[in-house]
Formats: sequence, C-alpha cells, structure tokens
Amino acid sequence: MYLVLLGPPGAGKGTQAERLEKELHLPHIASGDLFRENLKRKTELGLLAKKYMDRGDLVPDDVTIAMVRQRLQRPDCDQGAILDGFPRTLAQAKSLDEMLAEMGRRLDGVLYIAVPDEELVRRLSGRWICRRCQTPYHTVFSPPAQKGVCDACGGELYQRDDDRPETVRARLKVYHQQTAPLIDYYRRAGLLVEVDGSGDIETVSTALLKAIRSLMK
Ligand code: ADP
Ligand code: AMP
Repeated sequence: MYLVLLGPPGAGKGTQAERLEKELHLPHIASGDLFRENLKRKTELGLLAKKYMDRGDLVPDDVTIAMVRQRLQRPDCDQGAILDGFPRTLAQAKSLDEMLAEMGRRLDGVLYIAVPDEELVRRLSGRWICRRCQTPYHTVFSPPAQKGVCDACGGELYQRDDDRPETVRARLKVYHQQTAPLIDYYRRAGLLVEVDGSGDIETVSTALLKAIRSLMK
C-alpha cells in the first residue's frame, strides 16, 4: 500500500506516520528527515537543502524528486510506503505518479490531515525531536517520560531551527501557496481522504486507521 500523508507543517504527519509504520508494517519515508540526515552527514545535498530549509522555503523539485526516487527504489519499499512531506508541489506529485508507475505500482490514497494555522504554531513551538530516530515529542501534548530523552531509543531531543516562529510563518505561507493545491489535485483523482487533525494524537490515529480501511475496500 502506497500512502501519502498530506498536511501543513505541524499537522502531525510524522507523529502519525510512526504509528502507522508499526500498524501497517510499511516504511515511513519523510523527505524532511532525508534532508536532515544529509545535513548531519554534511553531504552536498544536505548543504544545498539547508539554505532553503533555514528560510522555510522548499528545496528545488529536481533534487527533492531525485532523492525520494532513490529512497523508493530500495527493497523495503517493494510492498508499499508511507510518504510524509512529499509531494509538496504539483511537479512532485506528477513525478511520484511516474516513479510508482515505473515500479509497476500506484498510489492507493492520500490522507489529508487538516489542522487550523493557529494550532500549528502552538504545536511547532513546543516540538522536540529525537536526534537519533527522529521521533517527535511535544512539551505539553506528547512529553517524553524523561525530559530531553527519547522514549523510543534513548536519543537526545532537540528543537529544530526552522520551528522558530518567524520561520514557521514562512513555512505556512509556502504551504498555502505551493502545497495546498495538491488537496484538489488528489481530490479530483479520487484519492483524497480528509481527516480532522485537530483532536488529540489518539483520536487522529483512530480516524486515520478508519480512513485507511475505507481505502482498502
Ligand atoms: P508534522 O510531521 O506534520 O510537521 P509532527 O508530527 O512533528 O508534525 O507534530 C508537530 C508537533 O505537534 C509535535 O510536537 C507533536 O508531538 C505534536 N502533535 C502531533 N499531533 C498532535 C495532536 N493531535 N495534538 C497535539 N499535538 C500534536
Ligand atoms: P519537514 O520536516 O517536512 O517539515 O521539512 C523541513 C524542510 O525540508 C521544509 O521546510 C523544506 O525546506 C524541506 N523539504 C522537506 N520536504 C520537501 C519537499 N517535498 N519539497 C521541498 N522541500 C522539502
């Protein structure tokens, strides 16, 4: 099953993808995580991406598409994948269709997690991420058992530079201009299922699983 989690920054895509990964036994592929891993290893791609990430802009389509294509070609994606943060532009969405067609596969559904902007700012300003396994936490909504330490792997938690309020505002603007049009694109393709993402983490998980079951019918 190939699924896309679509939604604004802070909607809970990463949080829900981690849960779905365990439930559905499919790899979670987050383009933002792939860029951050590249940056940690100081690759050319990572250093290029940083310029855009720091401003809250999108990394250019050509490099983003090439990076995701490479990741999808790994054998663990043979039976499906949960894409998080990709596609973010129409060009990326069209490339994803092509990539999957080349693999003899197709997209099964797009889960759009809808959350109002004011809530996103609250979520991102309290977000802490594990340096090692990327699990997201929140100081209020999803705190780790021990402050600063990842429950899942014991890694160190940190706050992302681009979660600062001024960068969050830029990211939301970019989302509304460049990514929100995908809602209509996938609705027209008959692939979109909208889920209310404003409830607590558990409520959103239940709604997503229900939506996925409806796609499987
Ligand atoms: P995204 O991957 O869409 O950018 P995350 O999954 O990283 O978003 O979630 C953003 C922040 O909001 C994190 O700190 C996370 O713990 C928190 N969060 C996620 N889902 C919810 C929810 N339903 N209610 C409250 N906080 C949430
Ligand atoms: P995320 O972790 O999904 O919030 O992404 C963090 C940053 O990485 C974004 O603000 C972009 O700069 C970059 N990025 C992640 N995914 C993409 C994508 N599909 N297209 C372009 N840029 C991306």
